[in-house]
Amino acid sequence: MGKPMQVAMNRASSWKETLLSLLEDLPPTLCPYISSISIDGTSATTLIIDSTTGEPLCKPFLYNESCPDALPFVTSLAPENHTVCAGSSTLSKLVSWWNSHNSDKGNAILMHQSDWLLWLLHGKLGVSDYNNALKVGYDPETESYPSWLVSQPFSYLLPTVKPPGTPIESIKEDMRKQFGFPKDCVVCTGTTDSIAAFLAAGATLPGKAVTSLGSTLAIKLLSTSRIEDSRFGVYSHRLDDKWLVGGASNTGGAVLRQIFTDDQLELLSQQINPLVASTLDYYPLPAYGERFPIADPNMQPRLHPRPENDVHYLHGILESIARIEAKAFGLLKELGATEVEEVYTAGGGAKNEAWRKIRERVLGIPVRRAEHTEAAYGAALLALKGACQ
Ligand code: ADP
Repeated sequence: MGKPMQVAMNRASSWKETLLSLLEDLPPTLCPYISSISIDGTSATTLIIDSTTGEPLCKPFLYNESCPDALPFVTSLAPENHTVCAGSSTLSKLVSWWNSHNSDKGNAILMHQSDWLLWLLHGKLGVSDYNNALKVGYDPETESYPSWLVSQPFSYLLPTVKPPGTPIESIKEDMRKQFGFPKDCVVCTGTTDSIAAFLAAGATLPGKAVTSLGSTLAIKLLSTSRIEDSRFGVYSHRLDDKWLVGGASNTGGAVLRQIFTDDQLELLSQQINPLVASTLDYYPLPAYGERFPIADPNMQPRLHPRPENDVHYLHGILESIARIEAKAFGLLKELGATEVEEVYTAGGGAKNEAWRKIRERVLGIPVRRAEHTEAAYGAALLALKGACQ
């Protein structure tokens, strides 16, 4: 094995070491009370595992790695505009691996990052959840893999899929003893990072949404109906009997950071009167191109005219981003999702109180700061769900 390959393979061992050191850090007085464990992982981070040893057969495919070599075949296989029709989808990664490997295929199985880390704790290979499995082509509505996928020669690699937060197995005896967990401690299926972060915010009813104001503006809305529209990059994850509808605009904090420092943002925002509408109308983008709620890859940023007063300028920008957020919720409703009733906010922009009030006025619904935003908190809620089953 060459050095670059070794480094890449070590990535999986570093995930394993990190998991074990996190468990090591748990206060020993708490360990006897841990009755259930779940883990979230990065969506579309994919491992091809040897089912006889549980060890990776090749370097892990990271979430953003693209396999353009597999895309023509994947698009010919899947229905038009299906979630798997992207070079970085889990299915494209699987097809790319399948086409480039001739040996060691018989015992291979596919696992997502969190599936594999959970396996280290429960020891049953080939189990996943329907949030992670969406990008390999699993249909969470029919709770099965579609026939166009099952008919492929590589379909034996696909994992068994359960709802997130389902108990898989008791924790392995060696792990249980090493960390002092109780005898009835169970390990449950996980989910993806961004879904875990949504769960952390505590939005549990249809019509509740979480807007993440980070570098971009990402929206997730709990809906009774499933909607998909690849033009806008809108798709739905299943959450029990509801759908988590999502879309992301390129506007957001990255534009603010191009113009102001975080300290300036804080100082200027304190001087904004959020109850008064700004007359400035922008479309703030960090570069050209927008996907949601307007699908236009050539869209130009609009940040002029710039008034002399920076408080007015920032007010105009924040208000314009709030209008894009309102348009985004409007589009989701048009596409058939449940109408938004309340928004929780996560990300770097969540601490901006003036912006919260501007958004409340523009959206016309309550906007709150999410109490918990850590994905790990959402994974813990899934473990709780598993413990109650
Ligand atoms: P990400 O994880 O997507 O990189 P974060 O959630 O860490 O982003 O948030 C960082 C963003 O928050 C930055 O782009 C920055 O412009 C924005 N930000 C920081 N402070 C403020 C503030 N007071 N008001 C509005 N936005 C802010």
